[in-house]
Amino acid sequence: CAVFGVYSPGEDVAKLTYFGLYALQHRGQESAGIATFNPDGVRLHKDMGLVARVFDEESLLQLPGNYAVGHTRYSTTGSSLIANAQPVVVPSRIGSIALAHNGNLVNAPDLKRTLEKDDYELISTTDSEMIAVAIAQELESGKDWLDAAKSAFNRCQGAYSLVIGTPEGLMGVRDPHGIRPLVIGTFGSDSQHYVLASETAGLDIIGADYLRDVEPGEMVWITEKGLASFHWSTKPEPKLCVFEMIYFSRPDSMVNQESLYSYRLRLGQQLAQESYVEADSVIPVPDSGVPAAIGFSHQSGITFEEGLIKNRYVGRTFIQPTQSMREAGIRMKLNPLKDVISGKRIIMVDDSIVRGTTSRKIVQALRDAGATEVHMRISSPPVTHPCFYGIDTDSQDQLIAATKSVDEIAAQIGVDSLAYLSWEGMLKATRENPDHFCSACFTGDYPIEIPDQVKQSKLL
Ligand code: 5GP
Ligand code: SF4
Ligand code: MG
Repeated sequence: CAVFGVYSPGEDVAKLTYFGLYALQHRGQESAGIATFNPDGVRLHKDMGLVARVFDEESLLQLPGNYAVGHTRYSTTGSSLIANAQPVVVPSRIGSIALAHNGNLVNAPDLKRTLEKDDYELISTTDSEMIAVAIAQELESGKDWLDAAKSAFNRCQGAYSLVIGTPEGLMGVRDPHGIRPLVIGTFGSDSQHYVLASETAGLDIIGADYLRDVEPGEMVWITEKGLASFHWSTKPEPKLCVFEMIYFSRPDSMVNQESLYSYRLRLGQQLAQESYVEADSVIPVPDSGVPAAIGFSHQSGITFEEGLIKNRYVGRTFIQPTQSMREAGIRMKLNPLKDVISGKRIIMVDDSIVRGTTSRKIVQALRDAGATEVHMRISSPPVTHPCFYGIDTDSQDQLIAATKSVDEIAAQIGVDSLAYLSWEGMLKATRENPDHFCSACFTGDYPIEIPDQVKQSKLL
């Protein structure tokens, strides 16, 4: 999912949020929504579908306000329903809360029980609504916004980057591990206008300057007095999702002072060092495999070529909910260039293999186009474990690498050779402390404990 927030009295905050969500569309294509706050209260518009379908000039005009909260969704928990679209707006003792969530709580069943015991009604089937309701519940005892929010966050376990609007101001929060990203930007002559966004690409589009990340376990509170920061968690332990770096975030988003394009280029270089093979061309699986393929080509000296052309107007296949849609999706999506591929030994580079279904089809398409050899190189390690923190990598039985060896996978997807990047290589290329990343889908080493009942739902 994408979260976005803007605090900018006097500006058209709904429109700024619209553009922010537009830049973050890749993070979720199922539903989109914007809530705006003004002294009269909160306004909300949300619906199923892409940002450009959900909003038009007309609906944005109905959203006046001094600050706004926006969201695009792809479901990891809860079904694909309008009731589950965000922001979620819930009433409280001292006014409405509008909340946008990226991530996934691992203790949702427990949290739900404590809320229902107090007769709080949940409208949706999402963990996100539970966070908003927990804040409302904490407010009942007379706490103010900050204390109620802190108490509520301490009841939440898992991944959550949040943007929350209240009648008093705008809040940005990251869980103590900072699994999902969240950045702060400023704009305006006095730099007193603030933006919160899942990625820096959401700042660029409205001309905001990157200020800094919201830190793991930090909460920023933006009001007419400016931006205040609170560290509400006793032991923050950074564990940014490495899959954001490899695949999920935009290549033009910045993490640790550099673009993810540059990081992905290094993954490709590292991959070529680890698993060089003689061939005529390196071709990427577009778009996600492009930076790594360029890096592979630079390092190996083998010519980079486009061999598969993508229809830009087809969404990411994995976001569509059903397997049959997914399978139909791939045929709409990529078309091989016969005259480039025919008679050549091809190294095909992609960022990851999840189920193996798309890879298999692409390999077949390359062979049909006349490739004499197809070698697949993957710029991340085998995905062996499901994600419980907000990326939809499926239950373990769907993951091809959970039960098959690299040789067996190679046979199943029909390549002449297959190699994955090493786990060490993936982390080395970050040029950061490797302990500061979550890489559980490659190792099964989950940094936040997952309750057994939740684990059983997705593990073999
Ligand atoms: P597969 O061969 O596993 O069906 O598809 C691999 C492709 O899926 C890669 O190009 C990769 O970019 C993309 N992908 C990356 N992350 C995810 C994810 O979280 N879920 C799914 N299903 N596909 C993903
Ligand atoms: Fe990211 Fe994988 Fe960790 Fe999930 S398990 S947060 S996808 S690194
Ligand atoms: Mg891809």
